Amino acid sequence: MKSGVVAVQGDVSEHVSTLQAAIDRCRPGGHAVTVRSIKDIESVESLIIPGGESTTISKLLVRFGIFDAIVRRAEEGMPVMGTCAGCILMAKKGDEQVGRTHTKLLGLMDMKVDRNFFGRQRESFESHLSIDGISGDFSGIFIRAPAITEVWGDCRSLSRLDDKIVMARQGSMMALAFHPELSGSTVLHEAFLSL
Ligand code: GLN
Repeated sequence: MKSGVVAVQGDVSEHVSTLQAAIDRCRPGGHAVTVRSIKDIESVESLIIPGGESTTISKLLVRFGIFDAIVRRAEEGMPVMGTCAGCILMAKKGDEQVGRTHTKLLGLMDMKVDRNFFGRQRESFESHLSIDGISGDFSGIFIRAPAITEVWGDCRSLSRLDDKIVMARQGSMMALAFHPELSGSTVLHEAFLSL
């Protein structure tokens, strides 16, 4: 079993190590790998899109020729988890800044994001989150984080902070406004692997 982390920009190595730790706990023998090409995309059974800078990641997905392949495999049912910048890219709709920067979104989840919502308030912070389906609090690390401002269709909110949605799920896809790979816990990566 191989699970991939898109490795064009951003928080890649932390995701790979947290994902590998989660795999060792619940899917022993599997591997966390980096993904940069169509061949890589075809070889994984699930995919994480990390945090970083959403405009840059989006442009590089197009430049590396993997943008459409990610959309296709996700539409075929491959589990995908987008965190922070990755969360922005999962959305069908973005805010005015996404429009102004012509950031091409993957458009996989029925949700709208405000790209720098928490970033405008406070650059980065940690907050305890209560997450549907996860026992106990999860310590969410927010870095210039987006908020999910609207969900519709089959997309469901799993966690809120200050009345804003910070985690959502739609079928086998998840979007997290924060950085689960920096919290020292493998719980959300394990939840992702169980999708
Ligand atoms: N707000 C950033 C963006 O627009 C994302 C920040 C992050 O991934 N830590 O891309």
